Amino acid sequence: MKNKVVFITGASAGIGEACAEVFAKAGARLILMARRQEKLADVCERLFKQYGTEIYSITCDVRNFDDLEKYINALPEKWSTIDVLINNAGKAKGLSKIQDGELRHWEEMIDTNIKGLLYVSKLILPKMVQQGFGHVINIGSIAGREVYPSGNVYCGTKAAVAFISKGMVIDLNGTGVRVTNIEPGLVETEFAAVRFDGDFEKGRTVYQGYKPLEARDVAETALFCATRPQHVMIQDILITPTDQATVTMVNKKG
Ligand code: NAP
Repeated sequence: MKNKVVFITGASAGIGEACAEVFAKAGARLILMARRQEKLADVCERLFKQYGTEIYSITCDVRNFDDLEKYINALPEKWSTIDVLINNAGKAKGLSKIQDGELRHWEEMIDTNIKGLLYVSKLILPKMVQQGFGHVINIGSIAGREVYPSGNVYCGTKAAVAFISKGMVIDLNGTGVRVTNIEPGLVETEFAAVRFDGDFEKGRTVYQGYKPLEARDVAETALFCATRPQHVMIQDILITPTDQATVTMVNKKG
């Protein structure tokens, strides 16, 4: 990874922040994107202090194609050859039966998890094809393989990520560009609090009574995929806590 350029969306927290850390430790240069400028600045400062990592940070919402286009097309020369793109920004909003779902939640999930991933990929993939190398790592979910009660639209967005990833694999065949879809089970991050509109107390209960994955576990998986030799493409990985057998079967104590 030494001096490779790794572009990570949703790098201000959780899995994206952990990816920034493990790739920084491996010697990569980072382009980090998220909406919360202060949190992103903290991550950049910490990684620079700890690893001397060169970081180009972009405060941007992946739902805004015009802004993405402006920032990505204006990347300075030394940042314009991207080796790895980690499409991580994403979320679940709400946990309601389909008949009770809120339109604003559906739109936020679809716009971020599907359209945001497509927007960023659209701006970076043609350059990777031109280079003849590159690696897109999409962060899907076990929820893209199995549906759980009231998971309806979130599961649908992650199923879309799985199929878009496979579509990328097929369309990019012969270009040298690799594609990986990492599908985590339960990971302890801000994810559950975001789902419940910032209710951290309620969010915490999702991770109680068993040992969930840490964000770093997923980040290390991404690093493993990115550091295989060029002729090796890991197309998809399902990673769960040992206590999680299926999307709903979790060995909770107490
Ligand atoms: P998290 O802790 O809430 O982090 C989400 C990150 O995405 C934050 O950095 C957030 O930053 C960023 N983000 C959200 N909306 C954005 C937008 N519109 N534009 C740009 N950045 C945006 O959640 P996480 O658990 O790390 O989730 C990361 C990915 O893993 C998601 O795709 C999620 O679906 C997937 N996943 C999570 C789990 C889990 O159990 N945690 C399981 C399977 C899959 P800002 O708010 O600063 O923009």
